[in-house]
Amino acid sequence: IKILAIESSCDETSAAVVVNGREVLSNIIYSQIDIHTLYGGVVPEIASRKHIEKVNQVIRTALKEADCTLDDVDAIAVTYGPGLVGALLVGVGAAKAISYAKNIPLVGVHHIEGHIAANFIEDKTLEPPFMCLVVSGGHTHLVKVTDYGQFEILGVTRDDAAGEAFDKVARAIGLGYPGGPKVDKLAKEGNPDAIEFPRAKISDSAYDFSFSGLKSAVLNYINQKEMKNEEINRADVAASFQKAVTDVLTEHTIYAARKYGMDKIALAGGVASNSALRASMKAACEKAGIQLYYPAPILCTDNAAMIGAAGYYEFIKGTRHGLDLNAVPNLKLGER
Ligand code: ATP
Ligand code: MG
Ligand code: FE
Repeated sequence: IKILAIESSCDETSAAVVVNGREVLSNIIYSQIDIHTLYGGVVPEIASRKHIEKVNQVIRTALKEADCTLDDVDAIAVTYGPGLVGALLVGVGAAKAISYAKNIPLVGVHHIEGHIAANFIEDKTLEPPFMCLVVSGGHTHLVKVTDYGQFEILGVTRDDAAGEAFDKVARAIGLGYPGGPKVDKLAKEGNPDAIEFPRAKISDSAYDFSFSGLKSAVLNYINQKEMKNEEINRADVAASFQKAVTDVLTEHTIYAARKYGMDKIALAGGVASNSALRASMKAACEKAGIQLYYPAPILCTDNAAMIGAAGYYEFIKGTRHGLDLNAVPNLKLGER
């Protein structure tokens, strides 16, 4: 089964052709990062306009690179939420137009379900059930994946998402947008034990997260140093902050896997490409006898191939959407 997938929820315009949810024939990603960098973050109106400019070209290229035409496509999968409403509408509109014109079944996909499904592309043998840590720009979820497209959300962030914390700290130490990869790089030159930043514990849940206290602690540290006219070692700040984030993420995920008797853990979302998170999860999983999975960096951040993988499993379960499919900016995981 060949799926044409479209993703436009934030600042990447992407289209892909994926076979049976696992084999990627093409995965074209047009990133708008250069434009949004000028403003220090994603500007929704600009994102929508750029999606409109690029979407047709990206779809055409994806089909061409996969050496197929719309007549070879069995279904169209498209992200319909969560994300920026104006951005989502561009992908949804394009998918509906093709579905109508060519009479191809339409499958709306949850963006986070896509991030999780990126693991199915990376490791062709991975099957549910497994524990999944979703760490992206807007979400931090600890999810028990009970079956394809079936989720039990154990924990969420109470405030900032992990990626959001990376981006805000990056801005504070002058690294610019998007901050995650830049903090990752700079942290390699710093000492992760140089500064003791807080690890938030949430009293009534072992699975929830909180990163706004950590972010404030970093900002306070920087302000105090500046007030005293002391030099700031930015690499130490980056490394120590990153360690505080990855410690908490690792600890909670391992704890959840143990509690639920899971011998597999998968990472998903942009922050899953963080080298310190991968290293700390790897060490902890080895110690606990748990198998660890994570997608290649290009499959961690937004891309359409992951939507094609999730779309395939929805398609074979019988999920179909009509031409009344709409963008749902705050769509919850597991909702239709
Ligand atoms: P969501 O998926 O929640 O809607 P999004 O699509 O904007 O949000 P992703 O594309 O999954 O998020 O990931 C982008 C985020 O990942 C950004 O916050 C970015 O800083 C972060 N990120 C990317 N690479 C790294 C890295 N190496 N280390 C830490 N963070 C990273
Ligand atoms: Mg993005
Ligand atoms: Fe995303």
